[in-house]
Amino acid sequence: MSSAHARTLAAHPSRTEPVLFDRALVWFRRDLRSDDHAALSAALAQARQVWCVFVFDTVLLEPLPRADRRVEFIRESLVELDAALRAGGGELIVRHGPAVDEVPRLALQLGAQAVYTHRDYEPAAVARDARVRGALADQGMVFYALKDQVVFDTDELMTASGSPYSVFTPYKNAWLKKVSGHDLQPYATLDPAIALAGVLAKPPQPMAGHGVPSLSALGFETTGITRWLPPGMTGAAERLDDFLERIDTYAQARDFPAVKGPSYLSVDLRFGTVSPRRLARLAHERFIGGSRGAETWLSELIWREFYMQVLHHHPRVVDHCFRPEYDALRWEHGRRAEQLFAAWCEGRTGYPLVDAAMAQINQTGYMHNRLRMLTASFLTKDLGIDWRWGERYFAQHLNDYDLAANNGGWQWAASTGCDAQPYFRIFNPVTQSEKFDADGRFIRRYLPQLQTLPAPTLHAPWRAGPLELSAAGVVLGRDYPEPIVEHDVARQHTLARYQAVKTAARSGGGR
Ligand code: FAD
Repeated sequence: MSSAHARTLAAHPSRTEPVLFDRALVWFRRDLRSDDHAALSAALAQARQVWCVFVFDTVLLEPLPRADRRVEFIRESLVELDAALRAGGGELIVRHGPAVDEVPRLALQLGAQAVYTHRDYEPAAVARDARVRGALADQGMVFYALKDQVVFDTDELMTASGSPYSVFTPYKNAWLKKVSGHDLQPYATLDPAIALAGVLAKPPQPMAGHGVPSLSALGFETTGITRWLPPGMTGAAERLDDFLERIDTYAQARDFPAVKGPSYLSVDLRFGTVSPRRLARLAHERFIGGSRGAETWLSELIWREFYMQVLHHHPRVVDHCFRPEYDALRWEHGRRAEQLFAAWCEGRTGYPLVDAAMAQINQTGYMHNRLRMLTASFLTKDLGIDWRWGERYFAQHLNDYDLAANNGGWQWAASTGCDAQPYFRIFNPVTQSEKFDADGRFIRRYLPQLQTLPAPTLHAPWRAGPLELSAAGVVLGRDYPEPIVEHDVARQHTLARYQAVKTAARSGGGR
């Protein structure tokens, strides 16, 4: 065994592996970093020569708009990853095509005996990986998909009766009971010995030296996302440093969208520009040290894992309600529903906090968690529109779009999900606004036309008197819409909609 392997293994003594292969390939996906990387670490420890690849998978890219913030964020993050791999003696090979073809083809060209990657829990990714595994097996190669996205996955946390958890609090308690220093320990990857021993290899000519293709070569346009969301490991490190200064006040600050309360690390967790283990370790250490903010934040990281295990054990949630009786809900449909949906998407509902939230997602690709809950509740319970429509819209627009968290969040808000809020808890968009954006700072940031309307009426402009509106220079219906539905009436419709399903289920008429 080379000294490089010895160093790598020594840095992670509990995960020692014999050298198994002459040549291996590491396939990067939603793990765009060079440190604490399970697949890279294992490949470096188990193979004498290691190459790295990222595939711009045309199957995923083709349906996207030509200006997509995520594609740009990924592309810029790859530039940094490539530089880190070059410093370690290698280089990132970038392919553009269907991953199911590109990965086996490249492995064959390189003469690799094994491909290492990280486990993905989304049903389409599971199907893709099964095809890649099969194609590699046909070529006599091994496919390793290792755990990396979460601390505990698949069936590592199960109830006493051996079934998956469907309630968050017991899941969280089991997570906290099981977690040990070992689970949160980083995986050693690139240390100077690796570079010296030449384990990370440059691809043979003519594959070498191409670098990361430009956005236009990939068929995409610039969105400018990286001007305000620095990409890659450096961007993630900046966000993390900034958040660690504020983590102790997270529990109090996180609910107010005008305040810098949350971490804004979701995009990094999504693309793996920071290690999920590292975040859990930092949160856990501070929680043990008595930080209430860190305790609450760790809980949010565990929600993320909770929804991933829900998706793993119940892939049907992609198209169906977690609670099957709610598949019988009769959502609004037809032209009127489409008009209401368009007004929601474009931030024209007449409820300022809802509209400001939609402006936030449309302009930046981010939306504050409190507002995700509010806008999802508004769509499903004020407009009576199927949660799947909103879920799809968020999937198209969120920088941090993650199927498990998005589906979990939408089904939570629609009360159809796993450990969701009860159907009769319906957010009032005005009182939510008064409570969480009391002085209207967030609303004013995104709805400049309401800039001078004073705070009490800013939350419900239709309640303002004519003098107040004219002093603020606002004409309802011209500068800002009248409310598209009346909340109290909508609430009654929603209660009836859900009660009909419950009654049918009780009398055996449900599905
Ligand atoms: P922080 O408050 O700093 O939280 C830290 C991390 O914990 C987040 O980055 C995220 O990874 C995780 N987290 C926090 N809350 C949740 C939660 N409720 N469920 C799962 N993980 C959570 N999160 C996504 O990452 N991608 C999505 O596509 C997504 N869609 C959502 C849709 C709806 C309708 C709702 C209600 C929530 C959704 N969330 C989603 C969860 C949550 O809103 C975001 O994770 C959070 O707002 C991201 O900002 P942050 O990183 O500053 O969060």
